[in-house]
Amino acid sequence: MTATTSAILEPARTTPVFGEYEVVVLGGGPAGIAAAIAAGRAGRSTILIERYGFLGGAGTAAGLSTFCGLHANVHGDIRQVVHGVADDILARLEKMGGLNAAHLSFANKIKAQAYDISAYKIAADELLGAAGVKILFHAFAVGALKRSERGIDALLIESKSGRAAIRGRMFIDCSGDGDLAAWVGAPYEIGDGAGNTIYPSTMFRINAVDPVKAGRAWETIPKLMQEAEQRGRRFPRKGAIVRPQKNPIEWRANLTQIKNPDGSAVSGIDVEQMSYGEIEGRRQCWDVFEFIRSVTPGFENAYIVEIAPQLGIRASRRVVGEYMLSESDILECAGFADSVGVNGWPVEAHVAGNVLVKFPRIPESRGYNQLPYRMIVPRGIDNLFVAGRCASMTHDGQSSARVSGPCFVMGQAAGTAADMALGAGVAPRAVDVPLLQRRLEAAGAFLGVAEEPATALAAAPQA
Ligand SMILES: Cc1cc2nc3c(=O)[nH]c(=O)nc-3n(C[C@H](O)[C@H](O)[C@H](O)COP(=O)(O)OP(=O)(O)OC[C@H]3O[C@@H](n4cnc5c(N)ncnc54)[C@H](O)[C@@H]3O)c2cc1C
Repeated sequence: MTATTSAILEPARTTPVFGEYEVVVLGGGPAGIAAAIAAGRAGRSTILIERYGFLGGAGTAAGLSTFCGLHANVHGDIRQVVHGVADDILARLEKMGGLNAAHLSFANKIKAQAYDISAYKIAADELLGAAGVKILFHAFAVGALKRSERGIDALLIESKSGRAAIRGRMFIDCSGDGDLAAWVGAPYEIGDGAGNTIYPSTMFRINAVDPVKAGRAWETIPKLMQEAEQRGRRFPRKGAIVRPQKNPIEWRANLTQIKNPDGSAVSGIDVEQMSYGEIEGRRQCWDVFEFIRSVTPGFENAYIVEIAPQLGIRASRRVVGEYMLSESDILECAGFADSVGVNGWPVEAHVAGNVLVKFPRIPESRGYNQLPYRMIVPRGIDNLFVAGRCASMTHDGQSSARVSGPCFVMGQAAGTAADMALGAGVAPRAVDVPLLQRRLEAAGAFLGVAEEPATALAAAPQA
């Protein structure tokens, strides 16, 4: 490679306008899905921009196949507490036969719920279609234009059709990485302030397991790994999760941890680190899979049916909003007058070599915190919401509220509030919050104002 100057000047260009929409949603993960559905259902012309050819975000592209954060441990009783758009997704998945019964997790203190990844992609397509949302797949957002110091004019995208601008009146950044917020100058944070960020993982699924012979191998595999470590074998991290999908010949595996050669977490917003991380992630998948296959009854003929299309990034930019949700808010089950929904997932910190989990007090606490509207309202920009894992949270708070359940909550609130801001001609921070809360409740959301009635328990069939 010959040495070059460090930057080149591109010629100015004329960029075609693809379209003008009342609400522009960037990113099709759980936050973007819920935001677009809510805005579309409110009758707003809504477009969702997604770089891949399917929806689901990390839930599909990073191969998760489990919803966390839909439930809370309410005084020892584990109940579904996230409702609204999330219920529509669960109902559609259940109808398609693509939803497991919720299973106990983290020493039986909470539940998570597995789903079929292909069914989730289709369910999301259908729900957005029914809400009248225009979906633009294979479109990578690369920048934004402002119309004023505090106002966004257009999102710039690149695709096989070339470069284009998408003009909007309200924008909702659900990119997970706060891309749009960063481009337009909203303040953001990365990591814990001491150079540490949460570690990513590459997920994979195993097929051709003999379920009878495997039995409760989700309990034995972590023990076998522990015993091998005592004999000198090294694994990327503790806290391995290997569990059956709805069809128990297929198991999902969440047990890698992707570090740079210097031991730091691979960054989701650094293309070279991401490239290294993809290769390292696949290497780890194969290494751990070979171990599992060699020691676990029932896995003798198993194979890796899929390594997730992309390395799973848990955290990158967190956009600073009017309030930052903190770890103490999670552990003390904080309440907020501007609640837009709840989160019952514990703090799940992926630190070097380990996963540290902290719950609110059980059974003394109600087991969930409320999510304040202010955490989706970024500072500095008047026509932008930020929802999902890049919303306004501290490093530790994000280790809880980044999972799917609270992302659905934030997205639904942002989409509904975008409609209200447009209707009233005001900035997001001036939205009538009591009215927003009534609209969210009317749309089925649970805001945590009263304790969830036992009858609202999820009624998913047993796998
Ligand atoms: C390895 C791993 C395991 C996890 N396990 C679980 C689990 O079991 N259960 C659970 O509930 N949660 C889990 N999580 C957390 C959770 O999945 C994510 O935090 C959640 O998906 C975040 O939702 P989101 O909508 O904010 O962002 P994402 O899900 O990250 O979605 C963002 C979307 O925006 C798109 N996008 C981003 N930038 C651009 C751009 N510039 N242009 C166009 N499109 C763009 C992406 O392609 C993506 O589809 C896990 C996360 C990881 C990484």
